[in-house]
Amino acid sequence: MPELPEVETVRTGAEPHLVGRRLHAVELMREDLRWPMPRAALEDLKGRRCVAVDRRSKYLLLRFDGPGQPVALVHLGMTGRMLVEVTSRTAARPELRKHEHWRMDFGDRLVRFVDPRRFGALDVATTDELPTHPLLGRLGPEPLGPEFDDAFLHRATRGRKVAIKQLLMDAKVLVGVGNIYASEACWRAGVRPRRAARSLTRAECAALATAVRKVLREAIAAGGTSFRDYVGVAEDAGYFARELRVYEREGAPCRRCGAIVRRTTDAGRSTYWCAGCQR
Ligand SMILES: [Zn+2]
Repeated sequence: MPELPEVETVRTGAEPHLVGRRLHAVELMREDLRWPMPRAALEDLKGRRCVAVDRRSKYLLLRFDGPGQPVALVHLGMTGRMLVEVTSRTAARPELRKHEHWRMDFGDRLVRFVDPRRFGALDVATTDELPTHPLLGRLGPEPLGPEFDDAFLHRATRGRKVAIKQLLMDAKVLVGVGNIYASEACWRAGVRPRRAARSLTRAECAALATAVRKVLREAIAAGGTSFRDYVGVAEDAGYFARELRVYEREGAPCRRCGAIVRRTTDAGRSTYWCAGCQR
């Protein structure tokens, strides 16, 4: 499943191709993905210029100029890929790919959305509607943004009995930290994933906040190098696998202390951790 680093990689890949270009056509191959797609609002984007490609949590935000300053929200779901291709204005339009559900024609750039399992999403809102949009309105801050720091994490953990790893993965507290990155951050900070959030000291919160940012930045850097004139999301998150210190290393020696890495299951998700050096 694409996590925040993969979505950010798609954003940075797509941005230079789309910003400044005018949308010529939107084509829907079906009426819905996870939810119905707003055909009329998408038609209204035609003729407008893309002015920014932003990201909020795991949503890509394609911002357009003109009345209402509309924004197309794109979510990759579990298997979605947003591909940007350089195309010739004069050649015949490229053929549909398998599982291609919508495309946006920006003249010499073609955006295709390919999603075998169709858990992805496409919606449109005005800039004013974004802060209260049902998909975005109740989200916590961005882990790489200015709001998330030691003090924030310390405040957010006070009085909370929930396991610290679960708290990190709660989008109402903090967005974009999935299972892999939560395990990795706990290992790097030397904190056991099942510790009650409220038991973390101020120093442990500081170490964990740093670890969260570092693991996400490294993952973004690892994903950000593989794009040319074609951008998308890897079929799986495998390209970051070489950077993982603890995830999926059950039974292997810990890279910090040599103890054997353990795996436990919490709420149906695997947690990897080391009893030797995580307190
Ligand atoms: Zn260890």
